[in-house]
Amino acid sequence: MTTDLGHGQGFSDPWPGDEADRFGEECGVFGITGSRDAAAFTALGLHALQHRGQEAAGIVALDDGVFRSHKALGLVGDGFSDPAIIDGLPGGSAIGHVRYATTGATMTRNIQPLFAEFVFGGLALAHNGNLTNAHALRDRLVDEGSLFQSTTDTEVLVHLLARSGGTNVLERLIRSLAEIEGAYSLVALTAKKLIGVRDPLGVRPLVLGDLDGAVVLASETCALDILGASYVRDVVPGEVIVAEGDSLQSYKPFEPAERRFCIFEYVYFARPDSVVEGKGVYEARKAIGSELAREAPAAADIVVPVPDSGVPAAIGFAEAANLSFDLGIIRNHYVGRTFIEPTDQIRHLGVKLKHNANRSALRGKRVVLVDDSIVRGTTSTKIVQMVREAGATEVHMRIASPPMTHSCFYGVDTPERSKLMAARNSVAEIGDIIGVDSLAFLSMDGLYRAVGEPGRDARRPAYCDACFTGSYPTSLTDHDAESGTLRARSLLEHAG
Ligand code: AMP
Repeated sequence: MTTDLGHGQGFSDPWPGDEADRFGEECGVFGITGSRDAAAFTALGLHALQHRGQEAAGIVALDDGVFRSHKALGLVGDGFSDPAIIDGLPGGSAIGHVRYATTGATMTRNIQPLFAEFVFGGLALAHNGNLTNAHALRDRLVDEGSLFQSTTDTEVLVHLLARSGGTNVLERLIRSLAEIEGAYSLVALTAKKLIGVRDPLGVRPLVLGDLDGAVVLASETCALDILGASYVRDVVPGEVIVAEGDSLQSYKPFEPAERRFCIFEYVYFARPDSVVEGKGVYEARKAIGSELAREAPAAADIVVPVPDSGVPAAIGFAEAANLSFDLGIIRNHYVGRTFIEPTDQIRHLGVKLKHNANRSALRGKRVVLVDDSIVRGTTSTKIVQMVREAGATEVHMRIASPPMTHSCFYGVDTPERSKLMAARNSVAEIGDIIGVDSLAFLSMDGLYRAVGEPGRDARRPAYCDACFTGSYPTSLTDHDAESGTLRARSLLEHAG
């Protein structure tokens, strides 16, 4: 659906369904200014970031003061493949977003970038991360008369911007950001400026690039590579970058804070060919595999990755253990990430749709299976069974991260705590449930060593590792102790 936003009449999306959508989401963001074909570059950048969210994509482009938007459910390659769509988004500046969301009915109005017309003009906004006080802020804003158009936490920022006062957009943005908690890497586009922001802890990534003089912002460097843009640097935690014409300004408006980049980006989320926070993700994953081999060796014949996410760690494991690496499981690439399937039923089916045992590699072998993480445990249980049925004589599972015991509230989609396999079971119990001969997880210190730290300093952890430790680096105003989740699912009832 392409929508001409003019100077800001807002989206013409219908208001479909009335059930609350989920709050938290995995996302990728992209922005460019000072180029021709900004929307085409944005579509390419989003395509490179597709792993960060596969259920919807959107682009807002700016041409001569006029904003235009196209949003589509599904993959970027499907929603933006018609050249007429990109032709309908002319202009030298654009921002885009890929996202994960849940139910079909409520999704379209939550597709980002969000757009609104303010007293200072139009502004489009795309967000990667998750706010942990959005529910509380939303209640207040609704009481004060705000009319919400979506159920995303990001929209809270739109309403704060509208009410924040201040003499210019930057001042308004900084005042609004001062009210929010949680994780955010943002790109925003006004009639004059492309703005990039990273939260003070720098939980989610955001990089700055250059494409023949055009300024590019993207969640990961793989989105620069696809364009042939050069990597300039990471946007630093707490930094606001403003590109306008030929000028590029940097502001540090927040109280300095200890950096807490998400360690799970290295474990699973970021693409292996990206460099995040100065470290190559592939190298980090291989180092994770080597650490794992040292910590938890196994008497086996071959190392087999659970593709694709387990591959770099399995290579590192095999090298360090001096075992041969074999593709004992073949992945069908034409299905999305299992975990991102929207229902439990499909998620269960998903493993079979996605992975098949390669009998010739497995038959008669003692196998070390390497995967990046166990979340619900669905994948491992099925894979182990599949590997045994294919004739493996022993199956030793090695997990390239510590047990995931807590939900992420900062933008990686994880189930509520009660559904996390490691929150309910000991390592020995998990081993029994998934049916392996032995099971080991990487230690916390091992993970920190693999990403270049001496170990985990419990007083000042260098990363956000809340999913493994429960040590959340921000306040969690919306947290509901009873359900163990952020209060979000009943949003519309609250907004009612
Ligand atoms: P599960 O079956 O729930 O244990 O899923 C574990 C698998 O999902 C692992 O192999 C990971 O590669 C993958 N995974 C881990 N975290 C996520 C996430 N937040 N989103 C999508 N996939 C994930």
